[in-house]
Amino acid sequence: MADKTFVFGHTNPDTDSIASAITMANLQTEMGNYSESFRLGDINKETKYALDTFRVEEPEMLANVDQTSNVIMIDNNEFSQSVSGIENAHIQMVVDHHRLNLHTAEPVYCIAEPVGCTATILYKLYKQDDVEITPKIAGMMLSAILSDTLMFKSPTCTQQDRITAERLAKIAGIDLYDYGYKLLEAGTDISGYTAEEVINIDSKDFQHQDLKITISQINSSNLEDVFKRKAELERAIEDKIARENIDLFVFVVTDILEANSQVIVLGNRTDIFERAFNVKLIGNTTILKGVVSRKKQILPAILEGLNKKIQL
Ligand code: MG
Ligand code: MG
Ligand code: MG
Repeated sequence: MADKTFVFGHTNPDTDSIASAITMANLQTEMGNYSESFRLGDINKETKYALDTFRVEEPEMLANVDQTSNVIMIDNNEFSQSVSGIENAHIQMVVDHHRLNLHTAEPVYCIAEPVGCTATILYKLYKQDDVEITPKIAGMMLSAILSDTLMFKSPTCTQQDRITAERLAKIAGIDLYDYGYKLLEAGTDISGYTAEEVINIDSKDFQHQDLKITISQINSSNLEDVFKRKAELERAIEDKIARENIDLFVFVVTDILEANSQVIVLGNRTDIFERAFNVKLIGNTTILKGVVSRKKQILPAILEGLNKKIQL
């Protein structure tokens, strides 16, 4: 058998990173490019709910790759969010829906679309290649779309995501909204997690010139429940800031019912956040009305805030 291709999403994997890795590995294998999906971290409770519902096995953990590895990057294209050794690997392909921040020595096959979910792009590739989407795969793809778009409430959601989700729900044989609520609700359960684990469930690092910015996000159906643990969460964030030399740490708790977020912001550059959102933090926190998307609302506002400072 030819060497396998490694397919994986980002570290601190979310449902899209796991489901789309599984989906892409299946498509590639069906097309004669033997591939296996991997995870770059622990499976969160939401993803576990999806895997259990559709009886799909969780991918194995991948610790590092090297110059002999053929890889496909899914749901991200930033080395700072990928596996150790990624700089040396041979990147066969990238399929993603985030900003592009990829620098390679060789040309790379990159499919990037500003849709709400990687699975929405993969659906089109299945159609293009005429490969069957089984109910299990449909269930995983649907889970990824519901998760990434917050059940279509996120500003990242497009008409394509909606239509694709409806089609996938039919193939999977489930009720879209009933399943969607259960899936998102499963992901809000932080009981049993230490504060350190909570801030790492869905944490992403961004390097901007000499600034290190971390934006971590969790979903909640009851903000008060999370903010009961505020002191403990702040200590965990302060520890991580000191350990990893982070300049700005934004912890985002998104209310999945109201589609708002409350944040805890720490670091020596909280001024960047205050300028970006034109807010004054009180007790390190504030509520951001209508803000639910890290990639489309929070990160762009912070980057614009930085540019504003430079122009002054
Ligand atoms: Mg993701
Ligand atoms: Mg995604
Ligand atoms: Mg996400």
